[in-house]
Amino acid sequence: MFSIEIRGIVQGVGFRPFIYNLASSSGLRGEVSNNGYGVLILLDCKQERADEFIKNVRDDKPPLCEIDSIRITRIKKTKSFDGFSIEMSEGAKNLSSHIPPDIAMCEECERELHDKSNRRFEYPFITCTNCGPRFSIIRNLPYERKNTSMDEFEMCEKCSQEYKNPHDRRYHAQPIGCHECGPKLSFFDNKGNIIESENIIDKAAELITEGRIVAIKGIGGYHLVCDATNDEAVKLLRERKQRPSKPFGVMVKDIYMSKNIAPINEKEEELLCSNRRPIVLVKKREDNALSKNVAPNINQIGLFLAYTPLHHLILQRLNRPIVATSANISDEPLCKSNDEIMRLRGIWDFCLEHNREIVNSCDDSVAFVECEKTFMLRDARGYAPLYLKLPHKTDKKILALGANQKSSVAITIGESVVLSPYIGDLGSLTSIEHYKSHIETLKRIYEFEPDVVVCDKHPNYESTKYAKELAAQNQNIELLQVQHHYAHILATMGVNGIASKVLGVSFDGTGYGDEGNLWGGEFFVCNLESYERVGHFRYFKLLGGEMAIKEPRRVALSFLFEIYGEEVFNLNNATLNSFSAAEIKTLYTAYKNSLNSPLSSSCGRLFDAVASILGVVQVCSYEGESGLLLESLYDENVLESYLFSIEDGEIDFSQIFRQILDEKNSRIAVSKFFNTIVEIIYEMHKKYDLPLVLGGGVFQNRVLLKLIIRKIPDVILPEMFVSNDGAIAYGQAIAAASEFETL
Ligand SMILES: [Zn+2]
Ligand SMILES: [Zn+2]
Repeated sequence: MFSIEIRGIVQGVGFRPFIYNLASSSGLRGEVSNNGYGVLILLDCKQERADEFIKNVRDDKPPLCEIDSIRITRIKKTKSFDGFSIEMSEGAKNLSSHIPPDIAMCEECERELHDKSNRRFEYPFITCTNCGPRFSIIRNLPYERKNTSMDEFEMCEKCSQEYKNPHDRRYHAQPIGCHECGPKLSFFDNKGNIIESENIIDKAAELITEGRIVAIKGIGGYHLVCDATNDEAVKLLRERKQRPSKPFGVMVKDIYMSKNIAPINEKEEELLCSNRRPIVLVKKREDNALSKNVAPNINQIGLFLAYTPLHHLILQRLNRPIVATSANISDEPLCKSNDEIMRLRGIWDFCLEHNREIVNSCDDSVAFVECEKTFMLRDARGYAPLYLKLPHKTDKKILALGANQKSSVAITIGESVVLSPYIGDLGSLTSIEHYKSHIETLKRIYEFEPDVVVCDKHPNYESTKYAKELAAQNQNIELLQVQHHYAHILATMGVNGIASKVLGVSFDGTGYGDEGNLWGGEFFVCNLESYERVGHFRYFKLLGGEMAIKEPRRVALSFLFEIYGEEVFNLNNATLNSFSAAEIKTLYTAYKNSLNSPLSSSCGRLFDAVASILGVVQVCSYEGESGLLLESLYDENVLESYLFSIEDGEIDFSQIFRQILDEKNSRIAVSKFFNTIVEIIYEMHKKYDLPLVLGGGVFQNRVLLKLIIRKIPDVILPEMFVSNDGAIAYGQAIAAASEFETL
């Protein structure tokens, strides 16, 4: 007899019925049950049949299942079996089991959705064992209906039969329901008046066609939706949302509709159609039918395919792309309840919602493909919670609090790190509350109490303040602070399973440096235990501190002051023209006396300086705008770069900036600037001759990524992961595990 223990995402994904059907159809005797680590199978058979069985498990496993390990051991025969059975493990709490992410509607459910003879025809919440909400509805482990927000809905007789039948494709599908017993839609206007209609979905589609803005409740939150081909509607949404130019995500009916908007390559198609259904950033077609207001002035667009049955039904009626943007206001969290969406009623005209509670909000994920590799800009729906590996063994329970922007938090369970979905920026009281509630959720689900709390070194990050608060409240908690850019490199090392000495290149907006300056253009020789800063961009003054982050012109002006001093007042260029003479005077005084002008080595800010001096953008309306605009200007045919020098590890950008000032053509300047950044990295890589590891938000820039991959093909990247501050919590967890390693 054999005992087979399988770990990974194997609970709540139809794994036991799969095992049951596989074993019974091959006439094997034994049983399958959930245990504390995953799934346990007992097989009463010969070695070769057990081996063959395992091979079939690996080859044919259900789509949502992910196997981390299979351990087979020969055991003494303790009982005899008549056939094969599923043993119920009621109440067996498994705190190391993986929570599956929310998954897009599967093909079989889609067929039933459109099949008039099916009892779930046009049922907007059709799901099965292989699809539907998971993470967003779970309150506690184990993942059973009574621990989800589906507990309010009592199954009808027919659903109950399906749920209990191991041969049914809805066997133990926790969110099972139908027209009779499951969640229901409601539709109302922004005064709260119920809109009467024979078919609510028809009515909602009709109003969208007329140019109205409709809030729609999806899986992990609400979207604000309008016709993406209607200039007026998109403009209205921008005005009401006070979002002048940040690109909107566009949802399409199917892959064919997406191909009318962008030329989609094979890898992008695979990602768009995957059951995780992220928003995928793709290059726009010039002649696409979208309103110019959807993603102004940039050559990319974020597309995603309908992923819930409700989205399918709406898009089927509309037969045109829709803007589907997260329902929130600027820095605030995504709306997930009726109360919250009612607060935004000034933005939408109508709201289509349902009565299945969203327990854990989860934004849409965002990804892109470059050089055949997939990168994430946001890890959320379809991916979260993410289970990552911890390179060190530690007995300590670690809570990692992340950064302050694009925040996410992580906890460690044994050798795994569980990473929360993207939470957002901690810029307001509500967003901080929301952040804390995500931590409470992880603590509740995993019955987790930290021994170690790890955070950033920045004293003013909300996450740092909270970490200190937690440590002050509980004497037993140890506090660890990890340098921001080192955490970026650790995260990339972690996802790639790298433990050796490397050259880490950490380029981002800004982060707190060891001596209190604002780092962001850093070269480290490091391993998982420690780092040495071997290079960085020479410090420049960030005029106005925080304000310089939103105003590229302040960074450019700082370089102009550095190069020309008082002569600046006799010059004429795009940066200077964006200020009044009085402003320049005031800023010059501030520059000379170093008033509110912290020193920075940030590479992200250099992109800003270039964007400003070339007249591309002076004041950003969203984060990363200058990088996106510069990408659109890059010309592949320009192969030259600017001269630069690295002295004692310091790269003086003003030398490069002078050459840009002399350039007449801005496309050439932008292209040479990109090429120069790559040459600098290449130079350092040659010097240290170590594996090259990249981290930090600057590497979300596709042009830069492409150029680096071409130049240094074996570069180690945060593939299938984020490179922005969403990665910090994972890097912090690795640092803490290294610090508190159990030998
Ligand atoms: Zn399904
Ligand atoms: Zn039912």
